[in-house]
Amino acid sequence: MADVITRFAPSPTGLLHLGHAYSALIGWRAARAAGGRFLLRIEDIDRGRCRDEFVAAITEDLTWLGIDWDGAVRRQSEHFDDYMAALDTLVDRELIYPCFCTRAAIKAEIAGADAAPHGPDGPLYPGTCRALPDDERYWRMSSESYALRLDMAKAVALTGPLSWEEDGKGMIAADPSSAGDVVLARKDTPTSYHLAVTVDDALQGVTLVTRGEDLFAATHIHRLLQALLELPTPLYRNHKLLTDADGKRFAKRDKALTLRDLRAAGRSPDEVLAMIEAG
Ligand code: GLU
Repeated sequence: MADVITRFAPSPTGLLHLGHAYSALIGWRAARAAGGRFLLRIEDIDRGRCRDEFVAAITEDLTWLGIDWDGAVRRQSEHFDDYMAALDTLVDRELIYPCFCTRAAIKAEIAGADAAPHGPDGPLYPGTCRALPDDERYWRMSSESYALRLDMAKAVALTGPLSWEEDGKGMIAADPSSAGDVVLARKDTPTSYHLAVTVDDALQGVTLVTRGEDLFAATHIHRLLQALLELPTPLYRNHKLLTDADGKRFAKRDKALTLRDLRAAGRSPDEVLAMIEAG
């Protein structure tokens, strides 16, 4: 495959663990094997949870492990304008509406409903703010905080059936409706994970997205956003998650398995790579 561009896109909310290293290696090896480019992107839109010290640790730990990247590191927090431009396109297409609901109000509404539809992340947003009259929208927007949601039914009707190629598995039919009216800009952040990741993968020319299969469900939404924003669709490889000897996936809570701790315990990069291969 010519011009392979892959990326590793961690959120700096903690130290990298073996699972991250596994994921980074898959992207890095795919790029290096093809003579392509491997990019590092820091997904730090959540300013409350992300820390600069973890950004520094990510670059240091990857370097220690022997993983290098091409070009400058892209930090999402420096590119809110790009995400807002994409959002404007969707607003112009009348696919976005403001949502004033608090989490508690959404929960209460779902609890009171006879049958609340569920998606991969739990009960779907019940659509409370979808049909608000325009005048109510305007006055509430001037005095209340709000998120921006995608009108999923309208969006899906516009694009028609979509699919993407999952490496080794063939074409997957996208089913974004099962996620409901997803949030594309949060009350406290002018974008969301789904929007920022879709825009960045396109802007950075990523041709192969390698990431954990826990994000497989999100790919349905990303495919829809690509169609709505007229962006190219990369090849996806949502890979298996690295698990420990008991079959439990490595997560941030497994503190002993951060790269930092393994290094402090005297493990060499080669030993850590061997642990990853064995996992
Ligand atoms: N930032 C996401 C994470 O840390 C990964 C996003 C992606 O690879 O699409 O889990």
